[in-house]
Amino acid sequence: MDGSKSKAEHSLRRKLWTRTGLAIVCTVILALTIIGRLYVDYAQARQNLFDIQAFRLLLDAANHLSAERGPANVMMAAEASTDSSASKRLAEFRTRSDAALDGVAAHLAMPYGLHDHPVPKRLFDRVREELSQARMEVDRVVSIPRENRRVEDIQQAIGQMFVVVDELQAAIAWKANELVNSDTSLAGPVLTGQILSDLREYGGRIASQIMAPVALGEKLELRNLIEVGRTRGRILELWRLVGGQDALYRGDARLLDSRRDVERLFFGKGLAIIDTLIAEGRLSGSYSMTAEQLTTRFVATLQPLEHFRSEFLNLAVENVVAARDRALKILIAVAAVTALLLAVLIGFVLSIQVSIFRPLLRAGEEVIGLAEDNPSALKRDLYHASEMLHLFDAIDILQGKLQERASLMGQLKLQAETDGLTNVLNRRALDQLGERRVDGQTKADDASILILIDLDHFKRINDTHGHLAGDDVLKEAARLMRSLVRPTDIVARFGGEEFAILVSDHDLAGAVALARKIRLALQLHEIITSDGTRLRVTASFGVAKGRGGQDGWRCLIDAADAALYRAKLSGRNRVRFARETLTQPASESASTLRDIKAKNYRSAASF
Ligand code: GH3
Ligand code: MG
Ligand code: MG
Repeated sequence: MDGSKSKAEHSLRRKLWTRTGLAIVCTVILALTIIGRLYVDYAQARQNLFDIQAFRLLLDAANHLSAERGPANVMMAAEASTDSSASKRLAEFRTRSDAALDGVAAHLAMPYGLHDHPVPKRLFDRVREELSQARMEVDRVVSIPRENRRVEDIQQAIGQMFVVVDELQAAIAWKANELVNSDTSLAGPVLTGQILSDLREYGGRIASQIMAPVALGEKLELRNLIEVGRTRGRILELWRLVGGQDALYRGDARLLDSRRDVERLFFGKGLAIIDTLIAEGRLSGSYSMTAEQLTTRFVATLQPLEHFRSEFLNLAVENVVAARDRALKILIAVAAVTALLLAVLIGFVLSIQVSIFRPLLRAGEEVIGLAEDNPSALKRDLYHASEMLHLFDAIDILQGKLQERASLMGQLKLQAETDGLTNVLNRRALDQLGERRVDGQTKADDASILILIDLDHFKRINDTHGHLAGDDVLKEAARLMRSLVRPTDIVARFGGEEFAILVSDHDLAGAVALARKIRLALQLHEIITSDGTRLRVTASFGVAKGRGGQDGWRCLIDAADAALYRAKLSGRNRVRFARETLTQPASESASTLRDIKAKNYRSAASF
């Protein structure tokens, strides 16, 4: 039973886990596919943030290099070493530019992410080289006494400063191209940032292009006019492009304000200053403002442009940060949901195992226990599910019904085996018992002993005192016999007024003695019938011993019957036993009392 139980349990558990395992594997595959995809999105968003920050550093560096031209121009326009605040200002701007370039270099050197887009070293080195040359050129011009400075000298130095930014723009263009190729979603912010950076550069450049003649009070040359015209055209074109990127900043109040400021200050005031100076420079070398005034006033109109650029880049970075955070949140949420799903799945299986399979197996055990008449006491309080409690209640009902039935069966069996009048075993039960015991014996030592008892002249009692009195005599005789035998001996009503005792040991002398004791007791016992009649009755006894393994039940009965007959024959109220060994078939060994009654009585051994 234990084996089949563990087999059933094993099989159920295996089936459950196989199917759940399949569900878990499918869930994991599905989850890994989704999580993998989401992780790639997150990694891309993280990379984008890194890239846009690096890109921004490049644009900021370009902005600083553009801005550095302002104080450089002022220095080149002023008397040599006369204005220490101007040189201090230039030094400050140069320090800022260097810091910005160092920042770019440090950021580019960082290993990071799934893919990286560092600006090629040669491009960046060119910027540094050109910058140091341009600064040397500026310093050289500044060191020339103002009256000896020529427009060409200043323009040469300014041109060198332009080259620095041009080189950085090449690096910016390279980087922009890389980023757009890496993720097209970056195209909008990257290209617009680049345009705004260019706009700041050309916005500043237009003033630098007329700076040398203004500084030295010389008439503008055609070359200046062409350059300025070209720069102005480029600025307008760039602004038109930025306007076309409305979608990028629409709805953002900060950017819209900045944009309005650019139009009002730079395109309004700033370009008007340039126009005025160009008009003056075309006519003569007399200008309405000095180079320093030009720088101060014009740089003020560039501020909104720088602000606009800076605000736009801030917003672009914020958007990328938000995209990265969003990607991370989705990734974590999906991973958490997956983990939860798996936990629920496993928990579900475990709970099914605990709350369904285990109780079912226990219930099965109980039912088998009931079937085997071996009910088990199990801890049912472990199973709280109402269905399971119901199941165990049903088993209890079944157990009750089985017990009821067993009791009825017992009663029926007792009725079937008991003689209704005397309450001792009936003939049928005696035969079954005798056959089982005697026919099943294999060894000589197992021999059984049977005592047959027949009340003497019983017919007379019936005839004299009535049938009911006869019944009372039968009952009392049976009671007396039962009181005298050992608990292991079996008393049965053999038929009519005949009784049988199947003795439980193999001692013939003991059995004869028992027969004698009963005979005497019966003889001495006064029976009072239900109507108060006092009677005495005697009986004749036939004792026979069967040889274990050789003589059957029928043989034993016949032998005892023959001995009984001899007791009757020798005058009744006596005990006779079969001396001879019981080997011949019943028909030959002895005739039954009934057979012999019809014949003449023969002599019999007696005690
Ligand atoms: P013997 O000494 O030779 O045995 O004489 P007997 O009269 O006892 O023997 P017999 O076989 O002639 O008669 C037995 C009688 O027992 C006949 C029958 O009416 C009676 N008898 C059989 N069964 C019952 C019973 O259940 N109750 C009563 N009252 N009498 C019964
Ligand atoms: Mg009889
Ligand atoms: Mg009789």
